[in-house]
Amino acid sequence: MITDADELARLDQRSQFHPFTGVADLAKEGPTVMTGGQGVRVRDAHGREYLDGMAGLWCVNLGYGRKEITEAIAKQSERLSFFHTFNGMTTDVVAECADALLKRAPVPMSRVFFGASGSDANETQLKLIWYYNNLRGKPEKKKIIARQYSYHGSGVATGSLTGLPSMHNFFDLPQGPIIHVSAPYYYRKAPEGMSERDFSRHLAKELEETIEREGAHTIAAFFAEAVMGAGGLIPPPEGYFDEIGPILKKHDILLVADEVVSGFGRLGTYWGSQTYGYEPDLITSAKGVTSGYFPMSVCFISPKVWDVIEGAQDRTGVFGHGYTYSAHPVGAAAALAALKLIDELKVVENVADVGPYLLGNLKDKLGQHPHIGDIRGKGLMLGVELVQDRASKEAFPPANRTGREILKAAAKRGLITRALGDTLVFAPPLVINREESDELVEKFALAVGDVLG
Ligand code: PMP
Repeated sequence: MITDADELARLDQRSQFHPFTGVADLAKEGPTVMTGGQGVRVRDAHGREYLDGMAGLWCVNLGYGRKEITEAIAKQSERLSFFHTFNGMTTDVVAECADALLKRAPVPMSRVFFGASGSDANETQLKLIWYYNNLRGKPEKKKIIARQYSYHGSGVATGSLTGLPSMHNFFDLPQGPIIHVSAPYYYRKAPEGMSERDFSRHLAKELEETIEREGAHTIAAFFAEAVMGAGGLIPPPEGYFDEIGPILKKHDILLVADEVVSGFGRLGTYWGSQTYGYEPDLITSAKGVTSGYFPMSVCFISPKVWDVIEGAQDRTGVFGHGYTYSAHPVGAAAALAALKLIDELKVVENVADVGPYLLGNLKDKLGQHPHIGDIRGKGLMLGVELVQDRASKEAFPPANRTGREILKAAAKRGLITRALGDTLVFAPPLVINREESDELVEKFALAVGDVLG
């Protein structure tokens, strides 16, 4: 095994095409090579340690080096390293895992469908939605509404659902019957002086007008993250889901809760929909289900959708969808271990405690900084938006890449964050304690000072 840090960086740089990385940036700066992790910390090939303020990609919710999960994975790999669930096959661990997941659903759900990533799970949801409307004799009801700034995946269909121009440009996306409505981005998009509640009403009105313009008989579903993540850490304004929910119901439009990030405790409730009090018809989850120890995603299917599918079985024959790694037994073993730990370690309760404490600390330390415009979020999904000018909310020129400069300064201080434009994001492992969260704030404040004074 190669251990020399520079050699590893060279090997990587000349052989890997990195996701979500600037080709020119990588050529100039080279990769950071991670080699180990324990608890909330990771270590690079030079032996430098970092507090992982992003839990990898908001997925390592239980922290690194959890023996309960790694041992479950090893044991299952030895016992039965792979089997599938096509053609009516299944495995013992998958049966147990599906049942454990249904028992944890926020509203009664009829079935789970497994995949390996958030993107493939949302792709499954899209197909399920179209399948469902075809089966119930509504072939015109196919359009999907998503929101600007949303993130639902990076495939052709899910990348189209995603409301980020940076993921459309040069890829000929969006494609398909997809409509984007405004993001509930109160800090940037609410008209001056408008209350959060009124902004929610304003967005609900836009949604209803969109539905009426297109014709409700053509709209199948509405996709929403609870707190928008990769699009800029945007929590919904007060009352948002209360306003939206009845409109969707009235027009027979399915609500798909994309809980890929928010599921399994991140917002301080088990599900994001419980934080904001709405009832999804379909739920997409991934990441936290195995705490990132194994790729796995889970679509939850409500009785409303399942009953139509089940009722049409005489007409449909084989359900023509699935992936080789749907219901992977090693993933199921990892998920069962992770679900048990979420309960035993009282992870949700920890988020409900440390989340507001960390948000309060960020506001105390940085709330008055002349270049910090907004500090927001819920649970352990927090964002700090930088501005050139607090009063006017004028942003820094994008070419300055201020967010990225702070990210680099934070890394030098031993803290990993993520820059979504000029919003720095924190989504640490959900097991982070108060002291570790203090350290996060301290390191971040130093990094802000390094770049912005
Ligand atoms: N939905 C949401 C809300 C996400 O944040 C992500 C990824 N961060 C995805 C879907 C896609 O998941 P994946 O990267 O596993 O395909």
